[in-house]
Amino acid sequence: MNQKTIADLVRGASCMDDYDPNSMPVEQARRLIQDYLTAINETQLVPLRESLGRVLAKEIISPCNVPNHDNSAMDGYAFNADDLQAGGTRLQVIGTAYAGKAYEGTVGKGQCVRIMTGGVMPAGTDTVIMQEKVQVSGDHISFTDMPKRHLNKRNAGEDLKLGQVVLPAGRLVRAADLGLVASLGIGEVEVYRKLRVAFFSTGDELASIGQPLEPGQVYDSNRYTLYGMLTRLNVEIMDLGVVQDDPETLKKTLLEAANHADVIITSGGVSVGEADYMKQLLEQLGQVVFWKIAMKPGRPLAYGKVGNAHYFGLPGNPVAVMVTFYQFVRQALLVLMGQPEPPPTPMLDVDCTEDIRKLPGRTEFQRGILFVDEDGKWKVRPTGSQGSGILRSMSEANCFIVLDDTVGNVPAGSTVQVQVMEGII
Ligand code: AMP
Ligand code: MG
Repeated sequence: MNQKTIADLVRGASCMDDYDPNSMPVEQARRLIQDYLTAINETQLVPLRESLGRVLAKEIISPCNVPNHDNSAMDGYAFNADDLQAGGTRLQVIGTAYAGKAYEGTVGKGQCVRIMTGGVMPAGTDTVIMQEKVQVSGDHISFTDMPKRHLNKRNAGEDLKLGQVVLPAGRLVRAADLGLVASLGIGEVEVYRKLRVAFFSTGDELASIGQPLEPGQVYDSNRYTLYGMLTRLNVEIMDLGVVQDDPETLKKTLLEAANHADVIITSGGVSVGEADYMKQLLEQLGQVVFWKIAMKPGRPLAYGKVGNAHYFGLPGNPVAVMVTFYQFVRQALLVLMGQPEPPPTPMLDVDCTEDIRKLPGRTEFQRGILFVDEDGKWKVRPTGSQGSGILRSMSEANCFIVLDDTVGNVPAGSTVQVQVMEGII
């Protein structure tokens, strides 16, 4: 149970020396949100394949050694290294060990067994010489190479040991993990239930696809980017459509969302324009902190709770929606999904080939294109216009160029930090 209330959170924030409600640094806002999250605790047992992209609720302990027996890493001949002769070794081949069909006998002095990759090492053997290194004549082999004892032998348990914690609780299951769990013969795993996320767009100017566009209207694109970003996270989504800038309808929709979802995400209506009702509404319905974050794009961002649901109020501008989602919401959802410490998105240092204009005092997430220059070196350049309504910039970009609060104008040739989008988008 999370004992903290939003009031604690606000109090905590206002006690901080550098707290400025008009401009909170990105890192601080991230920490505050983080502090307030508790993972869902309902779990379910699912067939192994269904656990892909879900979070393990229980650690996986190995019920056996993998591999189960010492076996050969090569097609070749298994023998005992005591039989090696300095000038050249000659051994009698007394049988064959296949993967899945062991040689049952014991291998004695001067003897060997033909063995296939994955074949169980026969009793009495400890070394495998690869077949390319031997001469075969009749039922004998000879070789002059002196392999080291244990060469080409895979040891029982060298991948996973009996009783070992193979995957910890809180692990987001990936393709390799599916195989790893399968290699243990485990067919069902316990995962957290899917996080339920409701979202809607706000704005009188929004038209839905299929409607004709009246003068002054724009098609609602935020519900589509949100759909994509949320689907990628494997959460259960509830698309509540477009809601007009009308306090009663907004209130009804928020309450409905809070009844069904663990998380509510809205776009638009969080600035201070006349039709931006979200602030008043949320003060009425829940506990919400409205922050102006010292960032671009995405300055207005709200976080709080409506009933038991976590609430994220994203700005309306399409690029700002995506940037705030990736910089704040994604990480928070991963925590709520059951990952206590989601791995941070890596930041790389790369040379930027163009000038970037920027004011210090806020973090900018410019959209960038990582490319290979004529010398084969990875470089970055900003996409064209960086306006927060220019969604094309997100579509063209393959990275964010992250310019922190302290950075001012960046001359071409400078090293900048980039966050690669591949893997999160
Ligand atoms: P707001 O934050 O509501 O003032 O909206 C800021 C800007 O984003 C306005 O130009 C809106 O028209 C635009 N906008 C808001 N919501 C959407 C949406 N769902 N799809 C596309 N543009 C939007
Ligand atoms: Mg609006």
